[in-house]
Amino acid sequence: MVPSRAQRIELRERNEKWLSPPLRIEMLECINCDACLRACPPQFGAIFNHGPDVVIIPELCSGCDKCLPVCPVNCIYPFEDWVQTGSPDSWWQEPAGPNDPYL
Ligand code: SF4
Ligand code: SF4
Repeated sequence: MVPSRAQRIELRERNEKWLSPPLRIEMLECINCDACLRACPPQFGAIFNHGPDVVIIPELCSGCDKCLPVCPVNCIYPFEDWVQTGSPDSWWQEPAGPNDPYL
């Protein structure tokens, strides 16, 4: 069975059936417009405001590319060499609480 987003958040693991690499945001280029956050489908819900940054949690990102065309500065890139080492604990606070933008 395909794990739900809630399960991915709980386990902090990417769906191993996702073949595309996750994406990442180049923070030095990002202008914090939040367009990508709104474009990410809620069943993935991978993009968050985190302090002054906008971040993609790779474990939640399917690589569907829906965020790419909306970025006005093209600062979202494939994270080709991503390996599951665990996103920072502080990132996981964003989808864990009542402020999860995808709930
Ligand atoms: S590639 Fe898809 S799942 Fe990943 S952050 Fe972009 S819109 Fe969300
Ligand atoms: S759409 Fe691009 S510039 Fe806007 S917040 Fe997302 S990554 Fe940053």
